Amino acid sequence: MPSSANKASANRSAAGSPTRKKDNQVIESKISNYFGENVFGPENQKQFLSKAACKAIDDAAKIGKSISLELAHEIAQGMKEWALTKGCTHYTHWFQPLRGTTAEKHDSFFEPSTQDTGVDKFSGKALVQQEPDASSFPSGGIRNTFEARGYTAWDPSSPAFIMEKAGVKTLCIPTIFVSYTGEALDYKAPLLKAVAFIRKAATDVCQYFDTNVKDCTISLGVEQEYFLVDSEHYNRRPDLMLSGRTLLGQVPAKGQQLEDHYFGSIPNRVLAYMADFEERAHKLGIPLRTRHNEVAPGQFECAPQFEEANLAVDHNSLLMDVMESVAEEHNLKVLLHEKPFKGINGSGKHNNWSIITNTGVNLLSPGNSPEQNLQFLTFFVNTIKAVYDHADLLRASIATAGNDHRLGANEAPPAIVSVFIGELLEHVLDDFGGTGTGKSRQKKGSDSIKITHVPEILLDNTDRNRTSPFAFTGNKFEFRAVGSSDNCASSMVVLNTIVGNQLIKFKAEVDEFLKENKGVKKDEAVKKVLVSYLKDCKKIIFGGNGYSSDWVKDAKRRGLNNITNTPEALEAYLSKSAVNLFVKNGIFSHKELEARTEIRFESYILRLQIEGRVLNELIQNHVIPAAIRYQKRVAENIASLLSIGQSKSSVRAQVEIVTNISKYINQLHSDNEKMTQERSKANKIGDAHKRAMVYCNKVKPYFDSIRDSSDRLEQLVDDSEWPLPKYTEMLFVR
Ligand code: ADP
Ligand code: MG
Repeated sequence: MPSSANKASANRSAAGSPTRKKDNQVIESKISNYFGENVFGPENQKQFLSKAACKAIDDAAKIGKSISLELAHEIAQGMKEWALTKGCTHYTHWFQPLRGTTAEKHDSFFEPSTQDTGVDKFSGKALVQQEPDASSFPSGGIRNTFEARGYTAWDPSSPAFIMEKAGVKTLCIPTIFVSYTGEALDYKAPLLKAVAFIRKAATDVCQYFDTNVKDCTISLGVEQEYFLVDSEHYNRRPDLMLSGRTLLGQVPAKGQQLEDHYFGSIPNRVLAYMADFEERAHKLGIPLRTRHNEVAPGQFECAPQFEEANLAVDHNSLLMDVMESVAEEHNLKVLLHEKPFKGINGSGKHNNWSIITNTGVNLLSPGNSPEQNLQFLTFFVNTIKAVYDHADLLRASIATAGNDHRLGANEAPPAIVSVFIGELLEHVLDDFGGTGTGKSRQKKGSDSIKITHVPEILLDNTDRNRTSPFAFTGNKFEFRAVGSSDNCASSMVVLNTIVGNQLIKFKAEVDEFLKENKGVKKDEAVKKVLVSYLKDCKKIIFGGNGYSSDWVKDAKRRGLNNITNTPEALEAYLSKSAVNLFVKNGIFSHKELEARTEIRFESYILRLQIEGRVLNELIQNHVIPAAIRYQKRVAENIASLLSIGQSKSSVRAQVEIVTNISKYINQLHSDNEKMTQERSKANKIGDAHKRAMVYCNKVKPYFDSIRDSSDRLEQLVDDSEWPLPKYTEMLFVR
């Protein structure tokens, strides 16, 4: 496999497009020739491990069976041998701490010895557990610094892989990261719990319909949006470098009004980059399939084939890393921030989510028989009910300083959590609940209760609604409000927990009903409970334009919350019902929940703090000096014109420019000072929640007013004098 992959890259054209033979047959560049070659997956395991060891990994991944230290030792040996043949010298536990993307600490396989040249070693113990010096990772107070140790523990359900950067190859072992007292300090640990939890709950509910179902998996396909800018421009924008977004900048005349970028032809330079990072991703087993331009200029998207949720989350984290690293080789910078440019669409990460049984049935795909329809409706309605009951929690799961610029900023998607299901399914639910007009056909079920018929061809039937935060798209729900730089685990922990919890409640209610009403058929009981849910949770179903001000009013009437900022959104994590939900179901302890929320508040503050500081600097050291330089030129010009006898009226326009420049400089100077004062006042507040609120309400408003004055100056000042690359330069990568 490796040799053909090498040929593949050697055959790449400069633009990175696949090489074709004259007869138009794709040869070595076939992705299937090198897909997964840098992953210690089943194929590579077979070559380096015994059958028993392969089975142990498979069992651990599929049914969570633990691996004995003896087998772990054998697996470590095999993994090491494989990694050495691939050119690795080091290994690392690879984990996802609560702030930042992924973390690594490389250790060498090599062990020197006194007698000879030393040996390459990797023990089972080193594979299974490590103790990174973790004191600098956020723990929200769980780990006091004197008890700084945390440990990482191997997750055998996500295969080890080889990361190559700058020609250096490192064996990476996906792990969870926990404190010594057992609290999770990362994204993965709770995700594994939430997934196991919903798998069981869904499997139990499936027994009503098919007793052959023994297990379920959670499927997740993450569409990733991103911007690309030229490195040269990026390096001249301290705001992009330090805060990930432009804090200043006039929106260009040709922004996205024409919407001609969407699905348009991909610029050559971008295509070359895409092909390169895709190849790297494919070697890492990330099943990328789609690439295209997005709505905004300079914005693009890629999407993989869906996978098991834990793997999909790992792959998305890894993908972001790969994208950033490959961009450097193309003199590009990838911007994963939710809103890098004002007035231009932001970026999200659409989480396509479903539940699939071990018998291969997608529970959110309507089948062609009434029995299957009832099963579909069960999972469909329970998901909507869960979202209705825990909308605030779902909102909290995606709350970050960056995402605030999308949610609640009159942009896709809105901060109001609603569910889009399309007109057809709205009719289906109306008829099912007995309130419809029979627009969806009713079919006689085998148990002679009427079950609404859901057409199988739903996939082609669901209309699209780009403004919805949570949309049903034919055979899956798509959580579209997740931020583009986020770790998807945060939203997936919440979604899987609330739906799992709802499924447990549903089953208890159906069983109770059956117990109390002897002789009632199971289908009837299922239907009865589902219909009882519909009354309430239909309030969250919305098919209209989510950006409109009418929706804000309508949502209020419906009693749906519109939470537009992070500090307020995060409160949901600490509500009684949230604590109860997570603690009861074993996803988070109360302490973990508090610690995590604290970290989220702190992250929010940190972001705003950085933005505030960068803004101060930009204004003082870049914008004001440039404005003064230009103003001086104009003033000197006025003086020289007047000195040669020109009339005052002939220099009127120039005097106006000089006056306006002074006005905006004064405005900037005073706003800058006020913001600094507000920041120092805020920093004195001990409680993170309160501090975050003050940052949101007192500090952040200055960002807008400062930007306003600066953008006015950008319009006034000579282009050649302006120190920062402008939107027009940055947005059109060529
Ligand atoms: P779009 O939403 O752009 O029309 P697709 O239908 O290709 O795109 O789906 C987007 C993502 O949804 C892909 O990652 C795809 O693999 C994933 N997806 C498709 N079916 C499922 C499913 N049953 N469960 C989870 N994800 C799915
Ligand atoms: Mg989609």
